[in-house]
Amino acid sequence: MVSGASVGAGDGVTGGFRLTNSIQVLRAPAGSVPDEEVLSGHRDAAFKPPGATILKCSDGIVCWVRLTLSRSVDAPEDWWLRLRAVRPGQARLYAAQGAMAEEAVQGAHQFPLNWRYVGVDRFFPVALPPWPATYYLRLENTPSADGFLLLQQAGFERQQRQLNTYLNASMGVAFALMVMNLVFWRWLRDTLFLHFALLLLAAVLLHAWQIVPSMGSPVHMGDPDLRGVLQSLMQAATVMFIARLFEFRRHLPRVARMTWVFVALNASAAVVAACGGYARIEPAVAVLDLAGMLASTAAAGWLLFGLRQWQFAWPAVLTVFLALASGLGRLRWLGLLEIGPDEGLGPTWAVARLIYMLLLAVTVADRTRQAEMQLRHARERSLEDAQRAERLLEDKVHQRTAELGHSNAQLAAEIERRRQAEAGLEAALASERKALQQQRQFVSLVSHEFRTPLAVIDAAAQSIELPGVQAAPRVAKIRRAVRGLTQLVVNCLAEDRLQSERMPLNAGPTDLRGVVEGLAQAFGPLEQERIRLHLPPGAVWVRGDAALLEIALHNLAQNAIKYSTPDQPVDIRLEVQAQAQLACVDVEDRGGGIPPDEQARIFERFYRGAGSRATRIGGTGLGLFLGTEIARAHGGSLVLLRSGAQGSVFRLRVPMAAASSAPPVPPASLAPSAESTPH
Ligand code: ADP
Repeated sequence: MVSGASVGAGDGVTGGFRLTNSIQVLRAPAGSVPDEEVLSGHRDAAFKPPGATILKCSDGIVCWVRLTLSRSVDAPEDWWLRLRAVRPGQARLYAAQGAMAEEAVQGAHQFPLNWRYVGVDRFFPVALPPWPATYYLRLENTPSADGFLLLQQAGFERQQRQLNTYLNASMGVAFALMVMNLVFWRWLRDTLFLHFALLLLAAVLLHAWQIVPSMGSPVHMGDPDLRGVLQSLMQAATVMFIARLFEFRRHLPRVARMTWVFVALNASAAVVAACGGYARIEPAVAVLDLAGMLASTAAAGWLLFGLRQWQFAWPAVLTVFLALASGLGRLRWLGLLEIGPDEGLGPTWAVARLIYMLLLAVTVADRTRQAEMQLRHARERSLEDAQRAERLLEDKVHQRTAELGHSNAQLAAEIERRRQAEAGLEAALASERKALQQQRQFVSLVSHEFRTPLAVIDAAAQSIELPGVQAAPRVAKIRRAVRGLTQLVVNCLAEDRLQSERMPLNAGPTDLRGVVEGLAQAFGPLEQERIRLHLPPGAVWVRGDAALLEIALHNLAQNAIKYSTPDQPVDIRLEVQAQAQLACVDVEDRGGGIPPDEQARIFERFYRGAGSRATRIGGTGLGLFLGTEIARAHGGSLVLLRSGAQGSVFRLRVPMAAASSAPPVPPASLAPSAESTPH
């Protein structure tokens, strides 16, 4: 027989008076033992001391706890009987009053507000008599009842005040942190703060659930379904927060998807709880919580040791603590872990929870600090990259500019080269055109020069047959015309020959005196009369082409005759300049001379003086040009010595032949020798 407990004045003030050894228990399936039988004391013999400290009174089992309590005389009458239950179900206390125990009146005492009852403990006010009194406590749907205590009024108040303080502080801190994190979220736009704020909101609401309903009564519990809603929301918020804290989406995308499954399940549980079905799903919610914690811990561990993301070390430690604390509670709640009453753990627990919350807040802030630092580093890196790229670009631009300058210079040089080539081409074209034009002029001149003597020949030949006409003057006319034609042909051939570079000069020792002497024979008798030769006594040897020299001298002589009147003589003078080893032939006439502005041009090919053109003196403009070319081919020159109203003097200079010259060779004449006989 267990003796009852007797409490004195000093008991139940600072801590509770333990009744563990003073209780007797009767466990029976619901309905098998009528309440009246127990309450009437007929079953007292069936009560036994409990085997374990924790009573399991669920799954259809009803527990009856029998207590025999008394107090010393000096002790106060009002006491509180506390029952601690992790999952409190229906609990009713009966006090033995005569034959039948009656239900102890609950809520008989009014509590001041600052005594607000918190926690899940059940309290029954009892008035203890100084003699042993028997109490029966009926427990149903309470799988883990333990911690039977007796507390005096002062002890109860003290304990409640203490709990109250911790809970209020915890709630206040949670609320302040929530607001702070919301502000940070708005400022820093980091959703981690929002997740943490949501978690804190759920914690604040859970606290409020504990505090608010019991404000009016120490024995009224908050609505269990509302607690279910809040609990489920808290679990969902926790999982979301952990997923965001460890950046599962970035590092473990599959786990991130799984968290949404957890969130969805918890949300469904919240809906069920809101509809009043929490009692049925509460164990499932607890299992879900346990699974969530286990999965989070495993994921954090993998992040750390598998992926070596050491920046998550501190959050991982906190998560493990959270998982441990909540996991142990859950295991206990589920009845899988039997831990005795945690007397004194309450305040410690509350302080630990406070510190934990602060650490969590620091962790969140630190994560943001790290993110900020990473961002800064990334910015610095990208700035460096940008600067490097800019430098590279500048170098490239310089290089390209230099290349461009170089190619521009090359281009300019090429343009200049082409421009010069074009100018050269244009000049060549112009000279070609000029040559062509001269050629045309020449052809027209030559044809005219040919036509005139031919017409003369034709007219003379016709008139020669007429009766009574003397033949001699006509024949002379014909011969003059033929001579003119011949000279024209000779000039043309000589010009062609000199133009041809391949034709070598037919040079040999030539007696220039002989050439000059033979000149007059190419003219008619009238002209021959006008020619006056001034010759040295002996032969004058030059190295040259006799035919060409004869042409040059013939042209000079013919010009002298042409450009002076028939009564004026023509002097041809041959001299030797021994010192200079030159033979000079001067051809002088007494004509009107050459205008000074024409003197420089008369040696040009096809050039004819204005006067000669105006006076219709025949000519091709080839005579002086040919003379100059022939003189040059012989290494000599042809110059106009002087020209004026008294006439003109042309000088042909030809280098003398060496002293050991070959014997004189008769000049090979291009002139028609047969017709050149003077009349
Ligand atoms: P052409 O006599 O056939 O016209 P030339 O070359 O022999 O061609 O002479 C060129 C020009 O020089 C002549 O047209 C003429 O105006 C001028 N000329 C040449 N010799 C004399 C000269 N002795 N007296 C005056 N003018 C001359």
